[in-house]
Amino acid sequence: MSFSYCTIQMSALSSLCEYDSEESDCDTKSTKNKKLKLRLPDLSAVPVIPTENYTDNCDLHAGRLRSFPHVRGNWSSFVYIQYTEDEDFLKLFKKLQAKVFEIDGSCYKCDDFHISLSKTVVLQYHLITSFSTTLQKILSDFESFKLSYDSVKIYCNEENTRTFVALEVDHFSKKYLMHMTDKIDNVLKEYNLPTFYENPSFHMSILWLNGNKKAQLINILDNLNDILLNKNLKTIHINKVNCKVGNKYFQYFLL
Ligand code: AMP
Repeated sequence: MSFSYCTIQMSALSSLCEYDSEESDCDTKSTKNKKLKLRLPDLSAVPVIPTENYTDNCDLHAGRLRSFPHVRGNWSSFVYIQYTEDEDFLKLFKKLQAKVFEIDGSCYKCDDFHISLSKTVVLQYHLITSFSTTLQKILSDFESFKLSYDSVKIYCNEENTRTFVALEVDHFSKKYLMHMTDKIDNVLKEYNLPTFYENPSFHMSILWLNGNKKAQLINILDNLNDILLNKNLKTIHINKVNCKVGNKYFQYFLL
């Protein structure tokens, strides 16, 4: 068993013990029906996926170009919300993909569906733990929330080397995420790292194409939005935020 998993289990076990003892204390005070909330373990300093066997293989990324070269000691990092796809979403995805295929056959499914809450920034190795702990502190003030998507939008990366077909979040989700990225930006400033976009457009990229294909995709944007509207995607409950630092994955639970 790796050190990370072992630490997570220890952390979770100690929380359960605390929970157990709180409950018996309450029993004696005859407050049995009162719902107790289990205190969440602080995993900010513990990566949730073991990192020992990580290698970066370009062939696995369909020829995608790195935005900056790998430098020893510099870890490319970003903060995001993970999306777990369900059956309805996959049906919608297939329809959108088929429509995009009609105008460009070389589009790829995005690997991990997520909503970025920061740009990809370069963090130095010795700052990883304190950065993650600071993020944990500011995010622990946020409540879990409902998120939904209300339109399809086309994005390009800053280098114009990739185009993304994405689902943009709705008005209320945007308001909440704005508040969150304001706080995350404060942490990034503390570490002298670039902040998020001045006008953030929160989205989940689902397909990507090489080069700048905005002009072609704009022609079918109305069709893509029709497909989304007809599917009526479920609202999703968001209870955690993630941070990827190189090959380490951290997660922060919301209230
Ligand atoms: P992502 O799926 O989060 O990797 O985002 C896909 C691309 O959208 C990124 O390469 C961003 O540079 C780009 N993007 C362009 N404009 C914005 C914006 N206003 N807010 C967020 N992302 C943007």
